[in-house]
Amino acid sequence: MNRINCNVTSCSHNKSRVCYANCVDIVGSSAKEEHNTSCGAFLDRSVYSELTNNVLSSGSCDCLKCTVDTCSYNSNHLCTLESIQVNGDGSDYYTHTECSSFKLRR
Ligand code: SF4
Ligand code: SF4
Repeated sequence: MNRINCNVTSCSHNKSRVCYANCVDIVGSSAKEEHNTSCGAFLDRSVYSELTNNVLSSGSCDCLKCTVDTCSYNSNHLCTLESIQVNGDGSDYYTHTECSSFKLRR
């Protein structure tokens, strides 16, 4: 299973809607909703071209850090889900992306 499924095809790390970055940082420390979160590892493909050679592991990205303390799935700045979905098709800046797996901690 891919750890990070992502429809941000405008990102240099995206290949066939899967993330191949070395490591992903989801940010948005006081998020109340999905759109308050962002992928801090986004790189604009039109500037950086394709960067899908993950050198930390053999396949897709499996390094997921997250500073969204308000999410139920966050534990010590790591995500406890096996897999997340990142969305923001057509994004040209990281704030246009979001973690759609976010769930507000109650
Ligand atoms: S937007 Fe983030 S999760 Fe999606 S491919 Fe780029 S670095 Fe990976
Ligand atoms: S599901 Fe929650 S803890 Fe996991 S990456 Fe998304 S916002 Fe962070």
